[in-house]
Amino acid sequence: MATANLPLHIASKYVLEYRRFLASNPDQAEHSGYCPCCGSSFREWRPVFGRGRNAECHICHSFERHRHMWLTISEDPDFFRPGTSLLHFAPEPFFKAAFGENRNINYYDCDLAKERATYAVDITEIPFGDGHFDRIICSHVLEHVPDDRKGMRELRRVLKKGGVAYVMVPSEVRPDTYEDPAINTPELRLQHFKQATHVRIYSRDNFVERLRESGFEVDMQMPKAKFGEQMCRDFLLGDNLYICR
Ligand SMILES: [Zn+2]
Repeated sequence: MATANLPLHIASKYVLEYRRFLASNPDQAEHSGYCPCCGSSFREWRPVFGRGRNAECHICHSFERHRHMWLTISEDPDFFRPGTSLLHFAPEPFFKAAFGENRNINYYDCDLAKERATYAVDITEIPFGDGHFDRIICSHVLEHVPDDRKGMRELRRVLKKGGVAYVMVPSEVRPDTYEDPAINTPELRLQHFKQATHVRIYSRDNFVERLRESGFEVDMQMPKAKFGEQMCRDFLLGDNLYICR
């Protein structure tokens, strides 16, 4: 059970929230979707705001990519070992609670915007020494960073020998990454890169190439190949995960 890795008080909080949710939404008690993050199950996922798809967990608010990440991390035998030093960019609330309140983990949550995390950190100038971290989580960050190659080299630099960085970005199967410094306003970026703060659309293969050029060994993990069709359907998993060593 992936939820076994949650601190007990967080797991209990989700159980209570789930009971309340079912009491006020009895039609959701059919259990066709199961969230491995918080252990809840329901008839239908919650609509993702503005995205036209039902994919959000009603209780912990995870999306497809978070569930893929959490299941993978839950299989990492060293992740929850006492003393693990974890650097987490752009912390999502579920992960922040799961890692930040776990006494085994020395947790460093960071974001470029200091109001969104404990540490204000520019990924292209990470203010920690070489080999400081056992694990890094960096999901949906690099597509916002103009000098992403420098960001990747910094991730590589602060990762301990034998450590693992779990990286996700939106990517497409396309011949090359689409980027152009002349596309430099929120309006243009929205039009060309689908979000006002994105600075490129990655080609999946080129993203792997850039990570390798930064000094990483990279495994690209597709959820269906890793967990199978049935689990992907039941847990609604998505996004490729780039496992960097
Ligand atoms: Zn959940």
